Amino acid sequence: MHDCIFCKIVKGEIPASKVYEDDDVIAFKDIRPAAPVHLLLIPKRHIESLLDCTADDQPLLGKMLALTPVLAREQGLGAGFKTAINTGLAGGQEVFHLHLHILGTP
Ligand code: 5GP
Ligand code: ZN
Repeated sequence: MHDCIFCKIVKGEIPASKVYEDDDVIAFKDIRPAAPVHLLLIPKRHIESLLDCTADDQPLLGKMLALTPVLAREQGLGAGFKTAINTGLAGGQEVFHLHLHILGTP
């Protein structure tokens, strides 16, 4: 069994400030926000990083990216926002469960 903090958030084993959830993904507030709005959008299925994604993950990745402006607008970021997917140790990734950062100032 792996010990993944974001899988624990998916399972409800540790609390998170959720702003969106469906069968495939969940979005919640970053515990150490780097901007007034800082969300993390993650797949419910454990995928370590973007380096582990293949063409089979295209529907999931497309869904995440299409959901991003919806969540951003809901948080008051209709004027714009930043996104980031840190990938691998060399890419500054700290939590090895794929996540997309959404950052901005309403
Ligand atoms: P990374 O550097 O892997 O792209 O970013 C991981 C992010 O996850 C960091 O911004 C960090 O603040 C956030 N994070 C780490 N642990 C937790 C947690 O337990 N809950 C929440 N909500 N965010 C977390
Ligand atoms: Zn995980």
